[in-house]
Amino acid sequence: MMNDHATSEIRRDLVGLVERICADYPDEYWRDMDVERAYPGAFVDALTKAGLLGALVPEEYGGLGLGLGDASVILEEINHHGGNAGPAHAQLYTMGALLRHGSEQQKRRYLPHIASGELRLQAFGITEPTAGTDTTNIRTSAVRRGDRYVVNGQKVFISRVQHSDLLMLLARTTPKDQIEKRSHGLSLFLVDLRGLQGVTVRPLRTMVNHETNELFFDDVEIPADALIGEEGEGLKCVLDGMNAERILIAAECIGDGRWFLERTTDYARQREVFDRPIGQNQGIQFPLARAFVNVSSANLMRWRAADLFDTDQPCGAEANMAKLLAADASWETANAAIQTHGGYGFATEYDIERKFRETRLYQVAPVSTNLILAYIGEHVLRLPRSF
Ligand SMILES: Cc1cc2nc3c(=O)[nH]c(=O)nc-3n(C[C@H](O)[C@H](O)[C@H](O)COP(=O)(O)OP(=O)(O)OC[C@H]3O[C@@H](n4cnc5c(N)ncnc54)[C@H](O)[C@@H]3O)c2cc1C
Repeated sequence: MMNDHATSEIRRDLVGLVERICADYPDEYWRDMDVERAYPGAFVDALTKAGLLGALVPEEYGGLGLGLGDASVILEEINHHGGNAGPAHAQLYTMGALLRHGSEQQKRRYLPHIASGELRLQAFGITEPTAGTDTTNIRTSAVRRGDRYVVNGQKVFISRVQHSDLLMLLARTTPKDQIEKRSHGLSLFLVDLRGLQGVTVRPLRTMVNHETNELFFDDVEIPADALIGEEGEGLKCVLDGMNAERILIAAECIGDGRWFLERTTDYARQREVFDRPIGQNQGIQFPLARAFVNVSSANLMRWRAADLFDTDQPCGAEANMAKLLAADASWETANAAIQTHGGYGFATEYDIERKFRETRLYQVAPVSTNLILAYIGEHVLRLPRSF
């Protein structure tokens, strides 16, 4: 159902490769991980071994040197096969900041090891309890002392820290009352978590198996050369990577949408009530047909955004629209799926309820739907900024 990557040989190969890997990790695997709230380490290792998590690392540093559209196929296909790309996606989300703003020294130090799988860059530390969506309000501070920065503060919802060697951390390097623009004064750091002293990690159980955590920084010393880009310009480095992140999430949502539709149309053809397949009823058929239309339309916007991104053209509007359309469409398919399955939609062995919970996340994280609408309102429609 709806495989628009078939036009490119690389993408066809990626689809095949991810499909082969996913075949070793069937529904039961993901179900067990979900029940135990465990990290799917074996699956992530298999992706790493196949080189897929180094997809965006340029070939000169040992990676596959693929484009964002290609990388998006990897995440889409994981979700399309019933898995969850979440445990592995951050390395692709954060790569842009390192590639575009990292120094040559940082790239040489880290990229070959990330590409080979020795080092994992799976943690991204932005959200704070008192700032939330308003990133410019973060308080975690990094104060320069000689050849070090000393970090103090608190982060929340920081996923996969226990399974990452590196953390991309946004912290305040200039106090708020000393900056001219609220987007200034924040800096981005690539923190090596191995052996780091002073960080307390407190797991936070959530509705989805995402292994997310509260982090407490207590006089944590990091080397000054962990700074990515210029001091005070960290938000710019992060925002610069947002289009890539939005396009990749859109692809995950499309993958979910395809999974829900395939599972559910199969079920609707087979399940007989009142002596006929339930899929014959328009009350069941039409929500699925509408969801298919919306997943397909979102997919067109995803490819439009990815093509613009990969040809270095402005794509802010398209990346945001792709993410919004895809997250809405995957949530619509999830609702239609649970309704079509009746009581079985709630039974864990059908996996619908698990994927239902998983795809709901995309309305909120990593960026909420409201913030996308605010972007379109302000930057595309030129309406006054709403926050
Ligand atoms: C499972 C999970 C994993 C996560 N992983 C990470 C991670 O690895 N790293 C990381 O940094 N963060 C992570 N997050 C955090 C996530 O990015 C935030 O939850 C999200 O950005 C929203 O922030 P908040 O929860 O503080 O909501 P709030 O900022 O409190 O917002 C609450 C609601 O109000 C809305 N809202 C707020 N302001 C406005 C406005 N001006 N206009 C309209 N609506 C508004 C928001 O859209 C939202 O719906 C994760 C979250 C979850 C649930």
